[in-house]
Amino acid sequence: MGISENIFVGSFIWVGDPEQVWIDGEVLKINGEEVEVQTSSGNTVVASLTKLHPKDADAPADGVDDMTKLAYLHEPAVLHNLATRYKMNEIYTYTGNILIAVNPFQSLLHLYDADVMKKYKGAMLGDLRPHVFAIADAAYRAMVNEEKSNAILVSGESGAGKTETTKMIMRYLAYLGGHASTEGSSVEQQVLESNPVLEAFGNAKTVRNNNSSRFGKFVEIQFNKHGKISGTAIRTYLLEKSRVCQISDPERNYHCFYLLCAAPPEEKQRYKLGDPKSFHYLNQSSCYELDGVNAAQEYLSTKRAMDVVGINIEEQDAIFRVVAAILHLGNIKFEKSEEDSSVLADEESKFHLEMTAELLKCVPSALEDALCKRMMITPEEVIKRSLDPLAATVSRDGLAKTLYSRLFDWLVQKINVSIGQDPSSKCIIGVLDIYGFESFQTNRFEQFCINFTNEKLQQHFNQHVFKMEQEEYAREGIGWSYLEFVDNQDVLDLIEKKPGGIIALLDEACMFPKSTHETFSQKLYQTFKNNKRFIKPKLSQSDFTIVHYAGEVQYQSEQFLDKNKDYVVPEHQDMLSSSKCFFVAGLFPPISEETAKSAKFSSIGSRFKLQLQQLMDTLKSTEPYYIRCVKPNDELKPAVFDNMSVIQQLRSGGVLEAVRIKCAGFPTHRTFHDLLTRLTIFAPEIVNENSDEKDLCIKILQKTGLTGYQIGESQIFLRAGQMAELDTRRALLL
Ligand code: ADP
Ligand code: MG
Repeated sequence: MGISENIFVGSFIWVGDPEQVWIDGEVLKINGEEVEVQTSSGNTVVASLTKLHPKDADAPADGVDDMTKLAYLHEPAVLHNLATRYKMNEIYTYTGNILIAVNPFQSLLHLYDADVMKKYKGAMLGDLRPHVFAIADAAYRAMVNEEKSNAILVSGESGAGKTETTKMIMRYLAYLGGHASTEGSSVEQQVLESNPVLEAFGNAKTVRNNNSSRFGKFVEIQFNKHGKISGTAIRTYLLEKSRVCQISDPERNYHCFYLLCAAPPEEKQRYKLGDPKSFHYLNQSSCYELDGVNAAQEYLSTKRAMDVVGINIEEQDAIFRVVAAILHLGNIKFEKSEEDSSVLADEESKFHLEMTAELLKCVPSALEDALCKRMMITPEEVIKRSLDPLAATVSRDGLAKTLYSRLFDWLVQKINVSIGQDPSSKCIIGVLDIYGFESFQTNRFEQFCINFTNEKLQQHFNQHVFKMEQEEYAREGIGWSYLEFVDNQDVLDLIEKKPGGIIALLDEACMFPKSTHETFSQKLYQTFKNNKRFIKPKLSQSDFTIVHYAGEVQYQSEQFLDKNKDYVVPEHQDMLSSSKCFFVAGLFPPISEETAKSAKFSSIGSRFKLQLQQLMDTLKSTEPYYIRCVKPNDELKPAVFDNMSVIQQLRSGGVLEAVRIKCAGFPTHRTFHDLLTRLTIFAPEIVNENSDEKDLCIKILQKTGLTGYQIGESQIFLRAGQMAELDTRRALLL
C-alpha cells in the first residue's frame, strides 16, 4: 500500500514550500493525482499526490528525543521535530545512536555543568535527555567493559559547533578518566590545554565562524587498564596556509598574530611590533578585534596553556619570534631595478628586512638574496638570476607560508611528545573534528580535499549504519538482509584510484614541466568522459564537476597544480637551516643531496590520501559514534531556525541517508506493549484474553490484514509507512 491511501480529504499532510521547504496543511480536495491543500499559513496550494507526506496527527507537541520514535520517518517529520525541539532549547536529538546537535549560538544555562556530567556517568544511552555527554559516556563504558577502542566522529559545516562539541567530549572523558590527584599538570589537563594552544595558531575568524578551525584534527586519547587517561596522540590535517598571506574583509588572519600585537609592552618591544594595522598580512581586512575577546588576556592565557602542555619559556620566545618575523616579512616590498631584477622598495622595507633577519637570527643579505634571487646550476657554473618584483613577492609569501606551517607542525609534534604516548594502552577513544562537505561559488583544491574526506567518511558511515541495523535484526531474530547496498565507491575510485584517478592524474601533471591547468583538465575530460560521477561543465574549458554523494560540486582547476606541490624553495631552505636560532634551524632540518634530487616533487594530494587511509584504518578498528552538528542559520544568531539551510545539511551530512537506510528495512520498532495500547481498537474483544503481549500483538496484526512486518523477540518491526497506514485506519474507526 502506497502513500496515497494515507492521504484523503481532511487528512493532515506535509507539502513542499519554496520558503520553508515543508509546510503542514489539510487536504481539501483530491482530483486523481492532484491534491488541493490548505496550508497552515492560510494558503491554498495544489500539489501532486506523490509529493505529499502524511503528517502524524498524534505526534507529541514537544517532539520526540529520538527520530526513530516518529510514526512517520520522512524528511518533513525529521525537520519539524528538530525545529520543535530547538524552540525549547533542546539542541540534541538522536536518530538511533547518531546524535544530532543543533548549534544554540548562546550558552545554555547549566547544560554542561559538573553535576550534569555526574548525572550522565554510567547512565544508559536513551535513559536521560539526549546529550553529548551521553555519547561520550557510552563510548567510555564500551571501552572499559569490552576493552574495545571507540571513536566519536563529529562532523558538520563550518560554524555548526564541531569544535565546541569536541571540547565537551574531551572534558567529559577527562572527568571520567582523570586521576584523583597528581603533582604538577596531569595528563588530562594537558590534553585539555592542547586545545587553546592549537586554536591560537590554527583558528581564525571567517565569515562562517568567528573561531573557525582551519585544520582537521583527530585526537586519540589513550587509556590504561584502569580506565585512566595515560597518553594522547593528536593528528592534524591540511592547515590552510594561504590565510597567512591573504585574507579578505571581514575575515582575519590566525589569532596568534593579533594576540602577539597585544602582548605586554616590553614583549612587543622585543619583537618590534606595533599596531596590527601596520602589517600587510593583517591590514588587508579591516577586522582586527573579536567581539567579547580581549587579545591581551588571550595572549597570557595562551602562554599559560603552553606552559601546561610542556612548551618551555625559550621555546615560547622562539615561537613568538617566528610569528613576529612573519609579520615583518610581509611588510617587505620590492620594486623594479635595472633589467628584470628587483630591489627593496624603500627604507621601511629595509627596516622590516632587518627585523625579520634579526628575529629569525639569520644574515640580512642572505635573507634578501633568498627572497630576490635564484641559483641556476648549469654544468659549467652556478648563475644567480634575479627575480622581478612580482616573483620576489611570491617568493616572500611562499617563505611566510612555509615558516608558518612548519611552526604549526612543530607545535602538534611537541604536544604529542610532551604529553606522551602510552605504548601499553590497548584502548583508545578517538575524537574526530573535521570539516564537513563544502560547496561554494568557487571551489578550489582545498574543497576537493575536504569533499574527498567526506566521501571517505560517508562510506564508513553508510557501512556502519547498515551493519548496526543488520545486527539489531539479528538480535531480534529477524531474517532479513539488504539486497541493494548503495555505495559511493564509484566516487572514491574517480578521485583516488591508482593509477587513473584524479589525484594520480594531478600528480602526473605536476611532474610534467609543460603541464598547465588546461592540459590537466583536458586529460580529465578525456579520461572520465563516460564516468557517471564526472561532468565537464558546458561553459568552461578547465572546470570540472564531481557528482558527490551530497550533490554536484564544480571545481576550478586553476591552482590545482600549484597547490598540489609541496615545495620549499632550496634558497629558503638553505638560509633557514643555517639560522643561529636552534628553533628556526630545527624547523628546517638539512635535507641530503640524495633526497633533494630524488624527490622532485612531493604531492600534497597523495600525502593527504595516505593520511586519510591511515585514519580510515584506525577508524575501522574502532566502534564508531556519530555526532552530526547542524548550523541553524547563517547569521550565527540564537533562536533562528532556517529550514532550508538545515535540510541541506541533513542531506549532505548523511542524516537523511541514515533515515533512508532505516526506511529500506523496518524503520518502525514498537514494543509489544506499545503496539497493543495503540491498536486495541482493531480487536477490542481480545484485550481480556489471557495470553502474553506478544501473542495478542500477533492476533491484532493478523486482524488488520497487514503483511510484510516482522515479529522480533521483544518488538514488532514495521515497514516504512505501515504505522501510518494503521493510524489512518484507526482514525476512521474512532
Ligand atoms: P565548527 O568547529 O563546527 O566550525 P565551532 O565549534 O567553532 O564550529 O562553533 C562555532 C560557534 O558556535 C562557537 O564559537 C560558539 O559561539 C557557538 N557554539 C557552538 N556550539 C555551542 C554550544 N554547544 N553551546 C553554545 N554555543 C555553541
Ligand atoms: Mg572548528
